[in-house]
Amino acid sequence: MTSRPAAVSFGGVAPAGDLSFRIATGTFVLPDLAPSGDGALSVRLALERGLQVLLEVLDPDGRLRLQVIRYKAGVSPAAIVSADAARTSLNARTGPLPPGDWTWRAAVRNVSPLDAGGPRPLRWTGTVAPLGAEASDGPGDPDDACPAAESLERAFAAPAAPLVLRFGGEGWAAGDLHQHTTLSDGVLAPDRLAEANLAAGHSFFAFADHQVLQPPRTLGGAAALGGVELTTPVGHFLRLGPLPADGLIPDAPGAAFADCADLARLRARFRAEGALLVLCHPCFPPWHWRCGALPDDGAPFDALEILCDPTHPGAADAAEAALALWTDALSRGSRTVGVGGSDYHGPAEGKHAADGGARPGDPTTFVRCAALPLSHDDVLSAIRAGRAAVGRGFLPGLAVGPAVPGQHPDRLPGDVLSVPPSAPAALAVRAAALPAPSVPGPLRGELVGAGGIRLRVALPVDGSAAVLSVPLPDRPSGWLRLDVRDGEGRLAGFTNPVYWTREENAP
Ligand SMILES: [Zn+2]
Repeated sequence: MTSRPAAVSFGGVAPAGDLSFRIATGTFVLPDLAPSGDGALSVRLALERGLQVLLEVLDPDGRLRLQVIRYKAGVSPAAIVSADAARTSLNARTGPLPPGDWTWRAAVRNVSPLDAGGPRPLRWTGTVAPLGAEASDGPGDPDDACPAAESLERAFAAPAAPLVLRFGGEGWAAGDLHQHTTLSDGVLAPDRLAEANLAAGHSFFAFADHQVLQPPRTLGGAAALGGVELTTPVGHFLRLGPLPADGLIPDAPGAAFADCADLARLRARFRAEGALLVLCHPCFPPWHWRCGALPDDGAPFDALEILCDPTHPGAADAAEAALALWTDALSRGSRTVGVGGSDYHGPAEGKHAADGGARPGDPTTFVRCAALPLSHDDVLSAIRAGRAAVGRGFLPGLAVGPAVPGQHPDRLPGDVLSVPPSAPAALAVRAAALPAPSVPGPLRGELVGAGGIRLRVALPVDGSAAVLSVPLPDRPSGWLRLDVRDGEGRLAGFTNPVYWTREENAP
């Protein structure tokens, strides 16, 4: 009988500094695992409270094989990399484990300055062990492993009762684009989070764990978008869409910790992979957008999270600032899409527990859809095209048309309205707030275009539409969006714009 190779540990002490990630690297020698007859490696992270670590492990050929993230104190579940795809964890690349000099690379952030206890140096440890060896040499239980990619799909048999509203002759399906599970700093395991979304009637949702790339799945009839939330020194970004071919974020510390100029490159790569780049909570310090005003050639991201985590004490101000950033982008001719995300971390735990905590679906993002169930592509295409609206308990509805007698306004968010030369210099508009599940008190609508608010209107509380006429500026093209405010004037929802363009006069 051959004895198993022992576990290898490494790590360090992170000084309390400026909340930025610092990169540490090192090597370890992996013996030939073949004699043990068990070609799998397990990797764990152990952290003191107040540390956040992303650990990557590269094989002797320099290929990234595994990423492990931990955002809380204690020992992570074992992440497994193996020649057997069925055993390999999320965020790991299946294949043989060649003996020799392997590399570890860690992005380490000390967030103890945000803790009540105050700044202090903190220790972290990574442990790499041939699977089986860790039972005696390392912490934890080998059964306590990160899930393999397919393991969730068997957990859901019953279809959900989806929340779909009708406005403007189209269906609008409810969902949420920003949520966290126990794979990063969330409280609910992925299957529990999926259940919470199905119970809320969501036809789509996104696992957006920090630095943990999750594959697209269909769970209980809902589209669980593949997602990840990337932490960078210039802001937090969601990557929504299919996995890259190898299931990893290539060179994550380098790519994710980009500067402003690198974002366009990141977006181009994600687009080539069929994924969207969303700037999240752009105005929540210390996780805010740090690239200032948007460049004149447009926003270096596909969508902007305007409403996020309404339980955050600074949520109202952050939403206003994000809205202003968006209005500026639209006014410069960008078609950046506005979305929402609850940034749900769990039921009434952790931050803002006094407010009852965030809820999945507060705010709700609605996408226009022809039929259910929604495919992943349906959701991504609708968001990409701006066929989306966001509301806290309601669907903001906007339909726009030329102010021509007998013609019903039928252009919806994401559509382009062509205004004939003969039309009056006004747009006919229908604006509404449709309960989903209920309109939270009296709501006021603001019709906004380039240059600011065009018209204010009280929105009927019964969900019926207000019919309006909005003057058309003397410009060749423009856009019109509906913002919705609650009784205290706080932003409670918005639509994406209807874009309009004047037809050329006939010669
Ligand atoms: Zn988040």
